[in-house]
Amino acid sequence: MIATTKKLLDEILEAMAGFQKVGLVGCDGCAKVCMTGGADEVAAMAQELKKQGKDIVFEATPERTCNVVKAHPVLEPLKDKMQDTDAILVLGCGGAVQVARQLTEQYGLFKPVKSGLDSVGHMDMVVAGQVALEQCQECGECILNDTAAICPVTKCAKSLLNGPCGGSEEGKCEADPSRDCAWVLIYNRMKALGEVEKLKKFVAPKDYRKAAKPRTLYIKEGRLA
Ligand code: SF4
Ligand code: SF4
Repeated sequence: MIATTKKLLDEILEAMAGFQKVGLVGCDGCAKVCMTGGADEVAAMAQELKKQGKDIVFEATPERTCNVVKAHPVLEPLKDKMQDTDAILVLGCGGAVQVARQLTEQYGLFKPVKSGLDSVGHMDMVVAGQVALEQCQECGECILNDTAAICPVTKCAKSLLNGPCGGSEEGKCEADPSRDCAWVLIYNRMKALGEVEKLKKFVAPKDYRKAAKPRTLYIKEGRLA
């Protein structure tokens, strides 16, 4: 299970600045158990955003938003409503945010997808199916809001935080040419979103104490205590 904690409201509002019409996606799996992104927390976030003057276009809580097989049947019928949003806020783990982003792309939509939670620990795992793609290393300081919902910690072979290593050729990673360079993907998506200037922002080294394993998390009301 992926454990998540709530981002501070100010951080969420900063990520959602300029987006009036918002779609909310929670997760009825791990985030529900963590009391950070189930239907109740999605409804509470909707009320909070309405207080801030936003319009809520839809609310959805797939059974497992990090799982395409579970998320797609819930989100696909909402395509038209997604089209009507300015941005989508996901109350789920880093994997859920990226699956939501992947699905919007699959539906032919191009919407900013933002995260309302920090993933803080891969506390348990059930392996099913035949292939799994790693999406998130639960670093405890999620930077997806600044990287177009593509995680460089996980998808860059060197986990670089401030742009590419310079070894990429034709969009592929120098460490594994069978894979796309994460930073080429991030740059292209940021450029298409009109957010490429944000890449000039320096991302400070992570506080690796938050990721040191094994972790025992003390959580109060959805936040690290
Ligand atoms: S930055 Fe990456 S590894 Fe860290 S929480 Fe976000 S998706 Fe996960
Ligand atoms: S080529 Fe891209 S993905 Fe590969 S290590 Fe360098 S920056 Fe990271």
